[in-house]
Amino acid sequence: MDNVVAPLSALIGELEKLPTVGPKTAARLAFYLMSASREDAQALADAIVALKDKLRFCKRCFSLSEGDECTICRDPRRDATTICVVGEAKDVYAIERAMTFNGRYHVLGGLISPMEGIGVGQLHVKELIDRIAPENIKEVIIATNPNAEGESTALYLHRLLAPSGVKVTRLAYGLPIGGELDYADETTLARALEGRRAL
Ligand SMILES: [Zn+2]
Repeated sequence: MDNVVAPLSALIGELEKLPTVGPKTAARLAFYLMSASREDAQALADAIVALKDKLRFCKRCFSLSEGDECTICRDPRRDATTICVVGEAKDVYAIERAMTFNGRYHVLGGLISPMEGIGVGQLHVKELIDRIAPENIKEVIIATNPNAEGESTALYLHRLLAPSGVKVTRLAYGLPIGGELDYADETTLARALEGRRAL
């Protein structure tokens, strides 16, 4: 986009870096933003900066939080004895959208991937084990992605958790194999949660 004015091409360049946004969409969004009010443009810019400045990780579940603990961990109406283990914080939002799960979460911060050099040491696995007894956990639902990394992570966690006597379940299939959790629609995710099976 060398043929457009510098501020516009700079914005298009930034938008193009976003996932699923190609050059055409980036240009469309940039032109839309140009026609938006200054207030709306400022609100969008402020929201992006606030995301970087104010968001932290929950010290209990490692999901995103504004304070020490996230709103889900602080909610007394949620079942504190069931933990849903996911790879990334975005998976929490995918499962929350399905509105079926009423327990708490544990975000690993990735999945075991020898290809990418991600081992157990880089994930919040020890922190998960350390929650089982003190929080009186009855069930751990492993909701890692239904792909190779998600499966090997699930198997590893199952072996690790088995001696503690906690019930370990895995999301039912029906989720697209090889896919990612946050691409599944709400109905599929809700069904996968309801049909979870013991590992
Ligand atoms: Zn939390």
